[in-house]
Amino acid sequence: MAGKRDYYEVLGVSKSASADEIKKAYRALAKKYHPDANPGDKTAEAKFKEASEAYAVLSDPDKKKAYDTYGHAAFDPNSAAGAASGFGGFDFGSMDFSDIFSDLFGGGAGGDIFGNIFGGGYSTGRRSNRPRQGESLRTRVTITFDEAMKGTKKQITIPYQEECPSCHGSGAKAGTSPVTCSKCGGRGQVTVQQRTPFGVMQSVSTCPECNGTGKVIKDKCPSCNGTGYNRVQKTFEVNIPAGIDNGQSVKLTGAGNPGENGGPRGDLLVSVTVAQHPILKRQGVNIFSTVSIDYPTAVLGGETKVKTADGDVLLTIKPGTQSDTKMRLKGKGVPLLRNPKSRGDHYVTIVVNVPTNLSKEQKNALEKYRSTLK
Ligand SMILES: [Zn+2]
Ligand SMILES: [Zn+2]
Repeated sequence: MAGKRDYYEVLGVSKSASADEIKKAYRALAKKYHPDANPGDKTAEAKFKEASEAYAVLSDPDKKKAYDTYGHAAFDPNSAAGAASGFGGFDFGSMDFSDIFSDLFGGGAGGDIFGNIFGGGYSTGRRSNRPRQGESLRTRVTITFDEAMKGTKKQITIPYQEECPSCHGSGAKAGTSPVTCSKCGGRGQVTVQQRTPFGVMQSVSTCPECNGTGKVIKDKCPSCNGTGYNRVQKTFEVNIPAGIDNGQSVKLTGAGNPGENGGPRGDLLVSVTVAQHPILKRQGVNIFSTVSIDYPTAVLGGETKVKTADGDVLLTIKPGTQSDTKMRLKGKGVPLLRNPKSRGDHYVTIVVNVPTNLSKEQKNALEKYRSTLK
Protein backbone atom coordinates (compact mmCIF):
# COMPACT_ATOMS: atom_id res chain seq x y z
CA MET A 1 0.00 0.00 0.00
CA ALA A 2 3.00 2.25 -0.45
CA GLY A 3 2.48 5.55 -2.22
CA LYS A 4 -1.16 5.82 -1.32
CA ARG A 5 -2.18 9.37 -0.55
CA ASP A 6 -3.60 10.36 2.79
CA TYR A 7 -7.42 10.38 2.60
CA TYR A 8 -7.69 13.80 4.23
CA GLU A 9 -5.17 15.15 1.76
CA VAL A 10 -7.13 13.60 -1.13
CA LEU A 11 -10.30 15.40 -0.11
CA GLY A 12 -8.39 18.55 0.86
CA VAL A 13 -9.81 18.70 4.37
CA SER A 14 -8.18 18.80 7.80
CA LYS A 15 -8.18 15.89 10.21
CA SER A 16 -10.69 17.75 12.33
CA ALA A 17 -13.12 18.30 9.44
CA SER A 18 -16.81 17.74 10.19
CA ALA A 19 -18.91 15.15 8.39
CA ASP A 20 -20.52 17.99 6.46
CA GLU A 21 -17.19 19.41 5.34
CA ILE A 22 -16.07 15.96 4.20
CA LYS A 23 -19.26 15.46 2.22
CA LYS A 24 -18.97 18.89 0.66
CA ALA A 25 -15.35 18.33 -0.34
CA TYR A 26 -16.15 14.97 -1.90
CA ARG A 27 -19.15 16.31 -3.72
CA ALA A 28 -17.01 19.00 -5.37
CA LEU A 29 -14.34 16.49 -6.39
CA ALA A 30 -16.84 13.92 -7.64
CA LYS A 31 -18.51 16.53 -9.78
CA LYS A 32 -15.18 17.67 -11.21
CA TYR A 33 -13.75 14.22 -11.92
CA HIS A 34 -16.90 12.26 -12.65
CA PRO A 35 -16.34 9.97 -15.68
CA ASP A 36 -19.46 11.35 -17.33
CA ALA A 37 -17.91 14.79 -17.30
CA ASN A 38 -14.50 13.48 -18.45
CA PRO A 39 -15.11 10.68 -20.93
CA GLY A 40 -12.01 8.66 -21.63
CA ASP A 41 -9.87 10.69 -19.24
CA LYS A 42 -7.91 8.11 -17.22
CA THR A 43 -6.39 10.70 -14.88
CA ALA A 44 -9.82 12.05 -14.00
CA GLU A 45 -11.11 8.53 -13.47
CA ALA A 46 -8.22 7.74 -11.13
CA LYS A 47 -8.85 10.95 -9.18
CA PHE A 48 -12.53 10.12 -9.01
CA LYS A 49 -11.79 6.69 -7.62
CA GLU A 50 -9.28 8.05 -5.17
CA ALA A 51 -11.75 10.65 -3.88
CA SER A 52 -14.59 8.09 -3.72
CA GLU A 53 -12.49 5.70 -1.72
CA ALA A 54 -11.40 8.46 0.65
CA TYR A 55 -15.01 9.49 1.08
CA ALA A 56 -16.16 5.91 1.60
CA VAL A 57 -13.82 5.68 4.56
CA LEU A 58 -14.05 9.17 6.05
CA SER A 59 -17.84 9.36 5.83
CA ASP A 60 -18.24 6.23 7.94
CA PRO A 61 -17.51 6.88 11.63
CA ASP A 62 -16.20 3.34 12.26
CA LYS A 63 -13.95 3.23 9.21
CA LYS A 64 -12.77 6.76 9.87
CA LYS A 65 -11.77 5.73 13.39
CA ALA A 66 -9.92 2.69 12.03
CA TYR A 67 -8.15 4.87 9.48
CA ASP A 68 -7.24 7.48 12.07
CA THR A 69 -5.74 4.72 14.20
CA TYR A 70 -4.02 2.48 11.65
CA GLY A 71 -3.85 4.50 8.43
CA HIS A 72 -4.24 2.65 5.13
CA ALA A 73 -3.15 -0.57 6.80
CA ALA A 74 -6.57 -0.70 8.45
CA PHE A 75 -8.01 -1.95 5.16
CA ASP A 76 -5.21 -4.28 4.20
CA PRO A 77 -6.30 -7.89 4.63
CA ASN A 78 -2.66 -8.98 4.81
CA SER A 79 -1.72 -6.79 7.74
CA ALA A 80 -2.14 -7.14 11.45
CA ALA A 81 -3.86 -3.75 11.46
CA GLY A 82 -6.35 -5.01 8.91
CA ALA A 83 -7.12 -7.91 11.16
CA ALA A 84 -7.40 -5.65 14.19
CA SER A 85 -9.62 -3.07 12.51
CA GLY A 86 -12.02 -5.67 11.24
CA PHE A 87 -12.04 -3.97 7.83
CA GLY A 88 -9.22 -5.90 6.17
CA GLY A 89 -10.23 -6.50 2.61
CA PHE A 90 -13.15 -4.13 2.93
CA ASP A 91 -15.11 -4.17 -0.29
CA PHE A 92 -15.22 -0.58 -1.53
CA GLY A 93 -17.10 -1.67 -4.58
CA SER A 94 -20.15 -2.73 -2.63
CA MET A 95 -20.55 0.64 -0.97
CA ASP A 96 -23.88 2.28 -1.52
CA PHE A 97 -23.24 5.65 -3.08
CA SER A 98 -26.71 6.08 -4.49
CA ASP A 99 -27.64 8.48 -1.72
CA ILE A 100 -24.94 11.03 -2.35
CA PHE A 101 -25.20 10.45 -6.08
CA SER A 102 -28.84 11.22 -6.35
CA ASP A 103 -27.95 14.41 -4.47
CA LEU A 104 -25.12 15.14 -6.83
CA PHE A 105 -26.45 14.13 -10.18
CA GLY A 106 -30.12 13.53 -9.67
CA GLY A 107 -31.99 10.28 -9.90
CA GLY A 108 -29.57 7.49 -9.14
CA ALA A 109 -27.29 8.22 -12.07
CA GLY A 110 -24.32 7.04 -10.07
CA GLY A 111 -25.16 3.38 -9.68
CA ASP A 112 -24.00 2.07 -12.99
CA ILE A 113 -20.93 4.20 -13.01
CA PHE A 114 -19.86 2.73 -9.71
CA GLY A 115 -20.69 -0.68 -11.01
CA ASN A 116 -18.35 -0.14 -13.92
CA ILE A 117 -15.52 1.53 -12.13
CA PHE A 118 -15.45 -0.65 -9.06
CA GLY A 119 -15.35 -3.85 -11.01
CA GLY A 120 -18.92 -4.95 -10.65
CA GLY A 121 -18.92 -5.17 -6.88
CA TYR A 122 -21.39 -2.34 -6.59
CA SER A 123 -24.04 -4.16 -8.47
CA THR A 124 -23.86 -7.19 -6.25
CA GLY A 125 -26.96 -9.27 -6.63
CA ARG A 126 -27.91 -8.05 -10.07
CA ARG A 127 -27.02 -11.40 -11.52
CA SER A 128 -27.91 -13.88 -8.89
CA ASN A 129 -29.79 -17.02 -9.80
CA ARG A 130 -33.16 -15.62 -8.80
CA PRO A 131 -35.78 -15.61 -11.59
CA ARG A 132 -35.51 -12.56 -13.77
CA GLN A 133 -37.89 -11.23 -16.36
CA GLY A 134 -36.46 -11.09 -19.86
CA GLU A 135 -35.56 -7.89 -21.59
CA SER A 136 -38.39 -5.97 -23.23
CA LEU A 137 -38.02 -5.21 -26.91
CA ARG A 138 -39.10 -2.15 -28.83
CA THR A 139 -40.27 -1.68 -32.36
CA ARG A 140 -42.30 0.88 -34.28
CA VAL A 141 -45.16 0.89 -36.70
CA THR A 142 -46.67 3.67 -38.81
CA ILE A 143 -50.41 3.89 -39.36
CA THR A 144 -52.65 6.34 -41.17
CA PHE A 145 -54.82 8.98 -39.57
CA ASP A 146 -57.91 6.96 -40.44
CA GLU A 147 -56.46 3.79 -38.91
CA ALA A 148 -55.81 5.71 -35.70
CA MET A 149 -59.43 6.89 -35.71
CA LYS A 150 -60.97 3.48 -36.23
CA GLY A 151 -58.39 1.19 -34.68
CA THR A 152 -56.49 -1.39 -36.70
CA LYS A 153 -54.52 -4.63 -36.60
CA LYS A 154 -50.95 -4.75 -37.87
CA GLN A 155 -48.63 -7.66 -38.54
CA ILE A 156 -45.21 -7.02 -37.08
CA THR A 157 -42.25 -9.27 -37.73
CA ILE A 158 -39.38 -9.13 -35.28
CA PRO A 159 -36.30 -11.22 -34.49
CA TYR A 160 -37.51 -13.45 -31.68
CA GLN A 161 -35.82 -15.92 -29.38
CA GLU A 162 -38.11 -18.89 -29.62
CA GLU A 163 -37.91 -21.71 -27.11
CA CYS A 164 -35.94 -24.59 -28.62
CA PRO A 165 -38.43 -27.40 -29.34
CA SER A 166 -35.81 -30.11 -28.72
CA CYS A 167 -34.86 -29.14 -25.17
CA HIS A 168 -37.85 -26.91 -24.26
CA GLY A 169 -35.53 -24.08 -23.32
CA SER A 170 -33.30 -25.99 -20.90
CA GLY A 171 -30.34 -26.06 -23.29
CA ALA A 172 -29.55 -29.61 -22.20
CA LYS A 173 -29.44 -32.53 -24.60
CA ALA A 174 -32.57 -34.66 -24.73
CA GLY A 175 -32.64 -37.07 -21.77
CA THR A 176 -30.27 -34.92 -19.67
CA SER A 177 -30.89 -31.85 -17.55
CA PRO A 178 -28.72 -29.02 -16.26
CA VAL A 179 -26.88 -29.78 -13.03
CA THR A 180 -26.12 -27.51 -10.09
CA CYS A 181 -22.92 -25.53 -10.68
CA SER A 182 -20.13 -26.91 -8.52
CA LYS A 183 -18.10 -23.70 -8.51
CA CYS A 184 -20.76 -21.55 -6.84
CA GLY A 185 -22.91 -24.28 -5.38
CA GLY A 186 -25.88 -23.03 -7.36
CA ARG A 187 -25.79 -19.52 -5.90
CA GLY A 188 -24.71 -17.97 -9.19
CA GLN A 189 -22.17 -15.77 -7.45
CA VAL A 190 -18.64 -16.19 -6.24
CA THR A 191 -16.51 -14.15 -3.86
CA VAL A 192 -13.19 -13.18 -5.36
CA GLN A 193 -10.14 -11.36 -4.07
CA GLN A 194 -8.92 -8.81 -6.52
CA ARG A 195 -5.83 -6.68 -6.65
CA THR A 196 -7.13 -3.24 -7.55
CA PRO A 197 -5.84 0.33 -7.34
CA PHE A 198 -7.15 0.28 -3.77
CA GLY A 199 -5.19 -2.78 -2.75
CA VAL A 200 -6.61 -6.24 -2.35
CA MET A 201 -10.36 -6.15 -2.24
CA GLN A 202 -12.94 -8.77 -1.84
CA SER A 203 -15.87 -8.58 -4.14
CA VAL A 204 -18.81 -10.66 -5.11
CA SER A 205 -19.21 -11.31 -8.78
CA THR A 206 -21.14 -13.42 -11.22
CA CYS A 207 -19.99 -17.02 -11.28
CA PRO A 208 -17.90 -17.45 -14.46
CA GLU A 209 -18.73 -21.13 -14.66
CA CYS A 210 -22.51 -20.81 -14.90
CA ASN A 211 -22.86 -17.11 -15.78
CA GLY A 212 -24.98 -16.58 -12.72
CA THR A 213 -27.58 -19.18 -13.49
CA GLY A 214 -26.38 -21.59 -10.81
CA LYS A 215 -26.74 -24.44 -13.28
CA VAL A 216 -24.32 -25.99 -15.73
CA ILE A 217 -25.21 -27.89 -18.87
CA LYS A 218 -23.02 -30.96 -19.28
CA ASP A 219 -24.39 -32.18 -22.63
CA LYS A 220 -25.52 -29.29 -24.76
CA CYS A 221 -28.66 -29.59 -26.85
CA PRO A 222 -27.35 -29.84 -30.42
CA SER A 223 -30.20 -27.97 -32.06
CA CYS A 224 -29.81 -24.75 -30.04
CA ASN A 225 -26.18 -25.22 -29.05
CA GLY A 226 -27.13 -25.15 -25.39
CA THR A 227 -28.74 -21.73 -25.41
CA GLY A 228 -32.26 -23.11 -25.06
CA TYR A 229 -33.52 -20.72 -27.71
CA ASN A 230 -33.46 -20.35 -31.46
CA ARG A 231 -33.44 -16.99 -33.15
CA VAL A 232 -36.31 -16.79 -35.60
CA GLN A 233 -38.29 -14.12 -37.42
CA LYS A 234 -41.67 -14.15 -35.76
CA THR A 235 -44.81 -12.29 -36.77
CA PHE A 236 -47.15 -10.88 -34.17
CA GLU A 237 -50.52 -9.34 -34.75
CA VAL A 238 -50.75 -6.04 -32.91
CA ASN A 239 -54.14 -4.69 -31.99
CA ILE A 240 -53.99 -0.92 -32.23
CA PRO A 241 -56.96 0.64 -30.46
CA ALA A 242 -59.05 3.46 -31.92
CA GLY A 243 -57.93 6.84 -30.61
CA ILE A 244 -54.23 6.03 -30.39
CA ASP A 245 -52.08 9.11 -30.74
CA ASN A 246 -48.74 9.65 -32.39
CA GLY A 247 -45.92 8.39 -30.13
CA GLN A 248 -48.07 6.17 -27.92
CA SER A 249 -47.13 2.51 -27.53
CA VAL A 250 -48.98 -0.76 -27.51
CA LYS A 251 -47.59 -3.48 -25.27
CA LEU A 252 -47.51 -7.13 -26.28
CA THR A 253 -47.04 -8.93 -23.00
CA GLY A 254 -44.54 -11.75 -23.18
CA ALA A 255 -43.31 -11.06 -26.71
CA GLY A 256 -39.90 -9.86 -25.52
CA ASN A 257 -36.77 -11.82 -24.69
CA PRO A 258 -36.91 -14.98 -22.57
CA GLY A 259 -36.53 -14.61 -18.82
CA GLU A 260 -33.69 -16.13 -16.85
CA ASN A 261 -33.90 -18.83 -14.22
CA GLY A 262 -37.57 -19.40 -14.87
CA GLY A 263 -38.50 -15.71 -14.95
CA PRO A 264 -41.20 -14.54 -17.37
CA ARG A 265 -40.46 -13.24 -20.85
CA GLY A 266 -40.12 -9.50 -21.38
CA ASP A 267 -42.68 -7.54 -23.38
CA LEU A 268 -42.72 -6.06 -26.84
CA LEU A 269 -43.45 -2.36 -26.92
CA VAL A 270 -44.73 -1.17 -30.27
CA SER A 271 -44.40 2.57 -30.65
CA VAL A 272 -47.05 3.91 -33.02
CA THR A 273 -46.42 6.73 -35.45
CA VAL A 274 -49.61 8.25 -36.85
CA ALA A 275 -49.08 9.76 -40.29
CA GLN A 276 -50.37 13.32 -40.75
CA HIS A 277 -53.64 13.85 -42.56
CA PRO A 278 -53.46 16.41 -45.37
CA ILE A 279 -56.44 18.37 -44.04
CA LEU A 280 -57.39 17.17 -40.58
CA LYS A 281 -55.10 18.16 -37.71
CA ARG A 282 -55.37 16.42 -34.41
CA GLN A 283 -54.81 17.86 -30.97
CA GLY A 284 -55.57 15.43 -28.19
CA VAL A 285 -59.09 14.16 -28.82
CA ASN A 286 -60.11 17.12 -30.97
CA ILE A 287 -59.71 17.61 -34.69
CA PHE A 288 -59.16 20.95 -36.39
CA SER A 289 -59.56 21.92 -40.03
CA THR A 290 -60.12 24.93 -42.20
CA VAL A 291 -62.68 25.26 -44.97
CA SER A 292 -63.02 28.15 -47.38
CA ILE A 293 -66.36 29.46 -48.63
CA ASP A 294 -67.03 31.90 -51.42
CA TYR A 295 -67.99 35.48 -50.79
CA PRO A 296 -71.71 35.25 -51.74
CA THR A 297 -72.21 32.24 -49.48
CA ALA A 298 -70.63 34.17 -46.61
CA VAL A 299 -72.98 37.06 -47.26
CA LEU A 300 -76.16 35.27 -48.25
CA GLY A 301 -75.72 31.98 -46.38
CA GLY A 302 -75.75 28.49 -47.87
CA GLU A 303 -74.02 25.15 -47.48
CA THR A 304 -70.48 23.89 -47.78
CA LYS A 305 -68.93 20.43 -47.82
CA VAL A 306 -66.55 19.65 -44.94
CA LYS A 307 -64.23 16.67 -44.74
CA THR A 308 -64.43 14.89 -41.38
CA ALA A 309 -63.10 11.68 -39.95
CA ASP A 310 -66.48 10.11 -40.80
CA GLY A 311 -66.46 11.36 -44.40
CA ASP A 312 -67.92 14.50 -45.95
CA VAL A 313 -70.68 16.39 -44.17
CA LEU A 314 -72.69 19.40 -45.31
CA LEU A 315 -72.27 22.41 -43.08
CA THR A 316 -74.92 25.13 -43.03
CA ILE A 317 -73.46 28.61 -43.36
CA LYS A 318 -75.54 31.35 -41.80
CA PRO A 319 -76.01 34.59 -43.76
CA GLY A 320 -73.38 37.15 -42.77
CA THR A 321 -70.72 34.64 -41.70
CA GLN A 322 -67.40 36.42 -41.11
CA SER A 323 -64.04 35.01 -42.06
CA ASP A 324 -62.34 33.12 -39.19
CA THR A 325 -65.65 31.97 -37.74
CA LYS A 326 -65.22 28.72 -35.81
CA MET A 327 -67.85 26.03 -35.81
CA ARG A 328 -67.98 22.92 -33.70
CA LEU A 329 -68.97 19.52 -35.04
CA LYS A 330 -69.82 17.83 -31.79
CA GLY A 331 -68.66 14.23 -31.45
CA LYS A 332 -66.77 14.22 -34.75
CA GLY A 333 -63.39 14.18 -33.01
CA VAL A 334 -61.12 11.33 -31.94
CA PRO A 335 -62.48 8.37 -29.97
CA LEU A 336 -61.28 8.19 -26.37
CA LEU A 337 -58.77 5.37 -25.91
CA ARG A 338 -60.46 4.07 -22.79
CA ASN A 339 -63.98 4.63 -24.03
CA PRO A 340 -64.19 4.57 -27.83
CA LYS A 341 -67.91 5.34 -27.80
CA SER A 342 -67.05 8.77 -26.49
CA ARG A 343 -65.41 11.15 -28.94
CA GLY A 344 -63.86 14.60 -29.01
CA ASP A 345 -65.09 17.37 -31.29
CA HIS A 346 -64.14 18.68 -34.70
CA TYR A 347 -63.60 22.44 -34.97
CA VAL A 348 -63.93 23.98 -38.39
CA THR A 349 -62.54 27.42 -39.11
CA ILE A 350 -64.44 29.15 -41.93
CA VAL A 351 -62.31 31.31 -44.20
CA VAL A 352 -63.99 33.61 -46.71
CA ASN A 353 -62.34 33.48 -50.07
CA VAL A 354 -61.72 36.90 -51.59
CA PRO A 355 -62.31 36.44 -55.31
CA THR A 356 -59.52 37.20 -57.79
CA ASN A 357 -59.53 37.15 -61.61
CA LEU A 358 -63.10 38.36 -61.91
CA SER A 359 -64.80 38.41 -65.27
CA LYS A 360 -66.02 41.72 -66.62
CA GLU A 361 -69.57 40.78 -65.76
CA GLN A 362 -68.68 39.89 -62.17
CA LYS A 363 -66.68 43.08 -61.80
CA ASN A 364 -69.62 45.13 -63.04
CA ALA A 365 -71.94 43.42 -60.61
CA LEU A 366 -69.62 44.25 -57.72
CA GLU A 367 -69.15 47.84 -58.89
CA LYS A 368 -72.88 48.13 -58.95
CA TYR A 369 -73.05 46.78 -55.42
CA ARG A 370 -70.38 49.24 -54.31
CA SER A 371 -72.25 52.18 -55.75
CA THR A 372 -75.20 51.32 -53.50
CA LEU A 373 -72.95 51.69 -50.41
CA LYS A 374 -72.42 55.42 -51.02
ZN1 LIG B 1 -32.26 -26.91 -27.44
ZN1 LIG C 1 -21.82 -21.18 -10.88
